[in-house]
Amino acid sequence: MEINENFSIPCPECGGTDFEVPEPLEDDSFVKCAQCGFEVLLADIKEHGLDKAREHVTDQIQKQLKKEFRKFFK
Ligand SMILES: [Zn+2]
Repeated sequence: MEINENFSIPCPECGGTDFEVPEPLEDDSFVKCAQCGFEVLLADIKEHGLDKAREHVTDQIQKQLKKEFRKFFK
């Protein structure tokens, strides 16, 4: 999975998804949470954050699917 400036992975500290991203963006760059100022290695976010991000996305998709199903069963 590619990570770019639009990635929304929750901050491990506060759960915020706004990060200050340095240029150029490298795996050993530190990204800083815009909400609490927590700094974390991008490599760490990739490693630990993506699982959370996937869970989050799956959750959203499931909610969406449930909504769609409700339409069908009206
Ligand atoms: Zn934070």
